[in-house]
Amino acid sequence: MNATLPDVGIFTRASVMIPTKAYAAYDQHSTLKSFEFSRRDPRDNDILIEILYCGVCHSDIHQARDEWGGSVFPMVPGHEIVGRVARIGSRVSRHKVGDLVGVGCFVDSCRTCPSCKNGDEHFCSGHLSLTYNSIEQDKVTPTQGGYSSQIVVDENYALKIAPGLDLKAVAPLLCAGITTYSPLRHWKVGKGHRLGVLGLGGLGHMAVKFGVAFGAEVTVISTSAKKEADAKRLGAHDFLLSTDPQAVQNAAERFDFILDTVAADHDLNQTLSLVRRDGTLILVGVPPKAPEVHPFSLITRRRAVAGSMIGSIKETQEMLDFCAAHGIVSDIELINIASINEAYDRMARGDVRYRFVIDTATL
Ligand code: NAP
Ligand code: ZN
Repeated sequence: MNATLPDVGIFTRASVMIPTKAYAAYDQHSTLKSFEFSRRDPRDNDILIEILYCGVCHSDIHQARDEWGGSVFPMVPGHEIVGRVARIGSRVSRHKVGDLVGVGCFVDSCRTCPSCKNGDEHFCSGHLSLTYNSIEQDKVTPTQGGYSSQIVVDENYALKIAPGLDLKAVAPLLCAGITTYSPLRHWKVGKGHRLGVLGLGGLGHMAVKFGVAFGAEVTVISTSAKKEADAKRLGAHDFLLSTDPQAVQNAAERFDFILDTVAADHDLNQTLSLVRRDGTLILVGVPPKAPEVHPFSLITRRRAVAGSMIGSIKETQEMLDFCAAHGIVSDIELINIASINEAYDRMARGDVRYRFVIDTATL
């Protein structure tokens, strides 16, 4: 045991199987409802986090409504978690009781595959334990997400949150933030680049903030004319209404990169027409139906279509530290848990400005 750790706050036998209040999807057709369950037994390397806020990602909706297939119920969604460390295991060294921490889209990985060894746990080829709708490394215990009062997680899969930022607006950084930060960094998008952000929702509005912070010329490409003023307020230099065929034609071959954050079916060939020769369309949105790409959309300008999924623990920490240094947070609407089903319906209609965040004190 680490002698510097306070005795109080360390797990004891009495603290195992922690009863937890939550909201869950009981099946793909019903609305989310109140749910109680026990968190798994904490281990020596675990921390127990009292959850304060949890963002609402469109992936929560896709999975709660089983739009991707394979969902397991009952399901407590939520992978944009911020909270305070309430207890620690005897071998924990990275976090102390009282620290502000975050948990994103995964809570463990195999730690032995080449991706894990390389610090790219999110691409784990053993077994990636997603934060919910997944199983722990024991391949048995279901994981449950952040629409809940507390969570037990290995200390190495929790992120440090610097004090000073508005905590409820930090929560969406754990998914919407890293999912847009990571590809922009990977493809080195910045000064001298024209970046199109397709879809101004939770991911899209973070992509605008990061694109601007990295020095790119950013255009929001949206189906919602009424979002133009917001796009500019968020820092975008330009706005393109994707439902206006003339405007789309005028913008042909304009972008070095387009980051596609759209959650619904849409025409990728039209989107590709906006990408310049040798440019790249980066997919992060995962609509229920697989899109079609015509080879002519690619070969005639040597365009590429790429994809990116969340980010590693190291990169997520880097992103959180970047946000703390630059004062970047999400634009949020704080909701009570009782409003979650209405929030889902509004998000499905593209009506969110720009992330719902649950105040878990209302559970
Ligand atoms: P969101 O907040 O609901 O935003 C999606 C945006 O898509 C909407 O605001 C809307 O923007 C646009 N859209 C265009 N047509 C639409 C339609 N028919 N219905 C609904 N929206 C439409 O969603 P999000 O949380 O940002 O997530 C976006 C997608 O990324 C989801 O598919 C999600 O599963 C996926 N995702 C992927 C990763 C990853 O690792 N790759 C991580 C997180 C989420 P406009 O009004 O501007 O058109
Ligand atoms: Zn997400």
